[in-house]
Amino acid sequence: MNTLKLNSPLQYVKGVGPRKSEVLSNHGINTIGDLLWYFPRQYLDRTTIVSIADLKVDQTVTIVGQVKAHGILHGKRKRYEVILGDQTGAISLLWFHGVGYWQRLFKKNQWYAATGTVSYFQGFQIIHPDLEHLEDESDQMIHAGRIIPVYPQTAELNKIGLSSKGIRQITTYIFENLHERIADPLPQPEIQQLHLPELHEAIQHIHYPENRDQIELCRRRLAFDELLEFQFIVLSSRRKKEVTVKKHSYSEPGKIIRKIVKKLPFNLTTGQQIAVDEISADLMKNRPMTRMLQGDVGCGKTVVAILAALHAAENQLQTAFMAPTEILAEQHFRNWQQPLEEVGIRCDLLTSSISRAEKDKTATACSEGKIDILFGTHALIYDYVLFKQLGLVIIDEQHRFGVKQRGKLHAKGDNPDLLIMTATPIPRTLALTLYGDLDITTITDMPPGRKPVRTVWRTNNVIGKVYQFIRNEIAKGGQAYFIYPLVDKSEQLELGSVEDAYKDLTTKQFSNLRVGMVHGRIKPKERDKVLNQFRAGEIDILMATTVVEVGIDNPQATLMVIEHAERFGLAQLHQLRGRIGRGEKQATLIAIAHPPISDMARRRLDFLAQTTNGFEIAEADLELRGPGELYGLKQSGLPELRAARLSCDRDLLEASLLLLERLFSIDKSLDTSYQNLYTYLYESTATRGLTLGGG
Ligand code: ADP
Ligand code: MG
Repeated sequence: MNTLKLNSPLQYVKGVGPRKSEVLSNHGINTIGDLLWYFPRQYLDRTTIVSIADLKVDQTVTIVGQVKAHGILHGKRKRYEVILGDQTGAISLLWFHGVGYWQRLFKKNQWYAATGTVSYFQGFQIIHPDLEHLEDESDQMIHAGRIIPVYPQTAELNKIGLSSKGIRQITTYIFENLHERIADPLPQPEIQQLHLPELHEAIQHIHYPENRDQIELCRRRLAFDELLEFQFIVLSSRRKKEVTVKKHSYSEPGKIIRKIVKKLPFNLTTGQQIAVDEISADLMKNRPMTRMLQGDVGCGKTVVAILAALHAAENQLQTAFMAPTEILAEQHFRNWQQPLEEVGIRCDLLTSSISRAEKDKTATACSEGKIDILFGTHALIYDYVLFKQLGLVIIDEQHRFGVKQRGKLHAKGDNPDLLIMTATPIPRTLALTLYGDLDITTITDMPPGRKPVRTVWRTNNVIGKVYQFIRNEIAKGGQAYFIYPLVDKSEQLELGSVEDAYKDLTTKQFSNLRVGMVHGRIKPKERDKVLNQFRAGEIDILMATTVVEVGIDNPQATLMVIEHAERFGLAQLHQLRGRIGRGEKQATLIAIAHPPISDMARRRLDFLAQTTNGFEIAEADLELRGPGELYGLKQSGLPELRAARLSCDRDLLEASLLLLERLFSIDKSLDTSYQNLYTYLYESTATRGLTLGGG
């Protein structure tokens, strides 16, 4: 008999040899404890299993059946189909990616449990279901009425026998042989107040629940622990920043700023003015600023950032202004160079496509302090770019950068102030968690005269009418964007790329219109030419991939068609929409979806058509796709949230903040269990540093 401890290596488990433990280790699972914190992705239980004869559209169900047939379906989009049958009928399961993988996976007569949302298209179908391969043993488990865990699976795990079933064997063995009660770091009164189970129970029953309700309770307990740890890191980082003192300093905003404001072709909106005041007050403090400026696409964040850069320049401090694409960096530079030089501010541009000699010249001037504002792309972070006195770092569209890139730019100064900008508003829950160590300035108004973009979504069978509509609008002097998804090589066969569409449309539907094309593989020179023609009105239609998501500013363009809109995330669709509706004229977005359209995609598109409010979009996006990569969570240096769901755990989040407030206040009346919790959090997070703020 083996006795296991939480920190025992997994090799101690029966059946886990060196090969399995190596693969588990690749997944970050080294000890018994690691595996216990590898939570099931879903559960199978009898109550959710539905007979095929009883299916209804839009229901989320689990179907248990046998593979009757499987194979590739050709057509507009190549897809893989499996016909799964039970005693009452058959249903089609469909995948649009990884055809080769599915082809190798399925064998006739295998048993599977498939979970997903039912739709109808020439019969019942489930697109991209979750799959669980069943063998006799697990089959019995289901029919014995137990709730069985289904673990996250990868091809690598499957290959060495660590499918869900394989992992179940290990976790079962662990619970039978674990001779240690998992210590609970939370003080008893806290657990009771939260009405949550103790940690040991939560871990045990998240793997092997006795009933459905227990799963949610256990998840909430584990979520609370995650949020507590997460917030501990964020708040520690914040406290550390609050005691850092910067060497440079700013006086009150002066003449140059007033001159520029007077020269602007518009008045600042109230929101912009408040933002400017908030930022300059922060710059004048003696601790470095770490501030996020957020506001919907087109609200006018750039001018606010420029005024901050001028505030720095008035104090002989340099600013690095980094944008995610060359198009955007060049646009900022071109828009601001002249007005800035007129008031004696020197600026320059540094991007990868600039010649070597030119780059060197710029870098030298910058290191000698002869440049006040250096605009650029990630080219700014290279080692040869040095500043004499970098006071302020501005990062535009911050979600497009990795944490390391931001950090590297920041490190070019001695605790410079940091202003990061985003047009993807941060939902409140995320603002509290992920960005909890940043101060946030929000612009909530829009420049006057903007009309919300009229938005509709249609399926591609009406594309003929859409082309006609566009032709009519162009005849009246309009300009249009046609947006296509980015295609990576492996998918090129499956999906019409922007290039194919260009060839097709320019010879047919738009043969008598002026059409230009930009995408990632087009040379910068050619790309600039096309963009300039578009801005100058010499091109009617700009066909593009998402390279236009950030950047292109052409107030005359009032039409946008997004092809394969079902493939885009909600926030990205909203960003794209922000390219139009910048002038006085009513703008229109037509999102074209290609069937089959998943339930989630429908919800995204419906929501897009319903609202143009970026904050509502961000909240919905968070709910629909989880915080994940969208907000840079994975690269933030923060622990992964496995159990917590920010969209529904706000109460836990707030409770964890209250508890931390007490822990940080080092309240003498707190008993030792609280001090132990502090020590526990401190030690378990000691190796992590929050890098979001770039500092
Ligand atoms: P974003 O917040 O998306 O970065 P920009 O800074 O690019 O927005 O501004 C969008 C457009 O609005 C630009 O053409 C800019 O000149 C214009 N703009 C900015 N502020 C105002 C204002 N207060 N009144 C009118 N137009 C403005
Ligand atoms: Mg912008």
